[in-house]
Amino acid sequence: MPDATFLQWPFFDRRHRELAARLNRWAPKHAGHSGNVDDDCRRLVKALGKGGWLEHAAPANGRLDVRTLCLVRETLARHSGLADFSFAMQGLGSGPITLFGTPAQRRRYLADVRAGKKIAAFALTEPDAGSDVAALATSARADGNGYLLNGEKTFISNGGIADFYVVFARTGEPGSRGISAFIVDAGNPGLAIAERIEVMAPHPLARLAFTDCRIGRDALVGKPGEGFKVAMGTLDVFRTTVGAAALGFARRALDEALGRVTRRELFGARMAELPLVQAQLAQMALDVDASALLVYRSAWTRDRGAERVTREASMAKLHATESAQRVIDTAVQLFGGLGVTSGVAVEALYREIRALRIYEGASEVQKLVIARQVLGAHR
Ligand SMILES: Cc1cc2nc3c(=O)[nH]c(=O)nc-3n(C[C@H](O)[C@H](O)[C@H](O)COP(=O)(O)OP(=O)(O)OC[C@H]3O[C@@H](n4cnc5c(N)ncnc54)[C@H](O)[C@@H]3O)c2cc1C
Repeated sequence: MPDATFLQWPFFDRRHRELAARLNRWAPKHAGHSGNVDDDCRRLVKALGKGGWLEHAAPANGRLDVRTLCLVRETLARHSGLADFSFAMQGLGSGPITLFGTPAQRRRYLADVRAGKKIAAFALTEPDAGSDVAALATSARADGNGYLLNGEKTFISNGGIADFYVVFARTGEPGSRGISAFIVDAGNPGLAIAERIEVMAPHPLARLAFTDCRIGRDALVGKPGEGFKVAMGTLDVFRTTVGAAALGFARRALDEALGRVTRRELFGARMAELPLVQAQLAQMALDVDASALLVYRSAWTRDRGAERVTREASMAKLHATESAQRVIDTAVQLFGGLGVTSGVAVEALYREIRALRIYEGASEVQKLVIARQVLGAHR
């Protein structure tokens, strides 16, 4: 049984504890995979919509409860990386509309996102602008009553299966002030899936090409030049939830390891009795609890009304993803040869966790953000 004592921490209300219990019952019934990630994701998004879980990813009242987002991601990640991915991308992909969209944009997209009828994507990264977001070069040139988009986006989750993309493009001066955000429907003739990208933990991912892609003025999210603010404001919410997904992977690894060491006999005793094994378990449990504290502190701070949680979210993401990698690696080690066998849970977790240390701001970027925050506060 996974440790659920953290749900008694003062960060949570009764509704959070009830939601975690319900989702723990729901997730195992829907976590199976067919081997075709596109089909699996479409099925999962529909199931998440039908189950009501996407209400939390794109809430009708426009208020994202970050503790709920984190609890859902942590719980789904413990059962299935793809289920967590499907939930998270509905939230991240529609997040700019939830947080900065017009009432008409919300009406047009969010009800379908909540119902699992429209799949969302967030298109920021470019071949030459990943960590350095402000270097992005995709252009949006004003033309008639709208804009023409030209350029490329890469590593776009849900690329190829999304119904719409929130795309960040340059409308003005170089740097962060010249960027705007737009909604582009997948059927737009100027948008092509240039390449499907395969990764070590499979999920839908693509490079997108925009060629004179025409969009109306009503596709603009926020004001012209506010795209960087829209992207960072959205990531400020969802970055904490990446930490929550890492926490879910780490908890699963710890559970798997506990199951193994209490069953496996080594040198005439159970592995769990070996002092070096106990030291490893202690470090894993410590890493898991420290991550949980940082993740839910960040979520709670935001839910309590903080406008930005830049420092808390970066700390949560950095610690939870880096320590989950260690926890999972230890679990693989404790499994011995079995740990690197395809189809074993810890082997899948080992592949699942890796990208989380890179996307939504690599660990090095999080360190820079945290340093800037603490230096700023010291002045
Ligand atoms: C599985 C996956 C899913 C993704 N999904 C999306 C998505 O849906 N939408 C989207 O827009 N993007 C997405 N991305 C892209 C992701 O956000 C970028 O890969 C990430 O921001 C890093 O950019 P980059 O790959 O260009 O690496 P680079 O920017 O080239 O950085 C390379 C490495 O340099 C190091 N580094 C970076 N900055 C510094 C620094 N200042 N000092 C020292 N070292 C540094 C880091 O270790 C980093 O990993 C996804 C990526 C992956 C792998």
